[in-house]
Amino acid sequence: MSDSGVPGSGLAKGLAVTLKTMTRRSTTQQYPDVAPELPPRSRGVIALLAENCTVCMLCARECPDWCIYIDSHKEEVAVPGAARPRQRNMLDRFDIDFSLCMYCGICVEVCPFDALYWSPEFEYAEYDIRDLLHDKDHLGQWMATVPPPPAHDPNGEPSKEESTAARKAAAGSGPAARPVTSRVRPTAAPGEGTAE
Ligand code: SF4
Ligand code: SF4
Repeated sequence: MSDSGVPGSGLAKGLAVTLKTMTRRSTTQQYPDVAPELPPRSRGVIALLAENCTVCMLCARECPDWCIYIDSHKEEVAVPGAARPRQRNMLDRFDIDFSLCMYCGICVEVCPFDALYWSPEFEYAEYDIRDLLHDKDHLGQWMATVPPPPAHDPNGEPSKEESTAARKAAAGSGPAARPVTSRVRPTAAPGEGTAE
């Protein structure tokens, strides 16, 4: 017989739950008095390492919200030993409109030159929505808050280059492959690691 038929059993159950909850340790986070402990790879804000940006426009083209605005001009750079000066894209403008951004991370993923990074910083709310347009300098300031990449995992999968070298070595048509465990990820300062 189910205890739902016993008079007062529902009340007893409810009181038991109340008692259990009352004695449980509270998990309330006292934000903003106490900063929350967020995972280091949290998607708070996007940081720009402008020196790495080649103005390839991949991020702006792939952004589903079209909220990345890039302007540039070309400059001739003399290269010692070269017959002709080289042309180089100079970044004039790099803005991200965080009022449109949906934090999908596509721009960070597609950047081939490690110029964009996630920072866990999230306290940049504004009273005026127009102030959520962060320019090159503002995005550059977030770099100081980008955490270093995770530590090297010796049991992790080998890189594409190592897999290719290993295949070639196995086929006898290329240089000897480096051992899989030799893969080393940069562990240093922001901007020197891979974008994640
Ligand atoms: S996170 Fe997504 S929506 Fe935001 S700027 Fe990057 S690509 Fe665009
Ligand atoms: S994808 Fe990277 S290198 Fe290319 S324009 Fe965007 S930030 Fe610059």
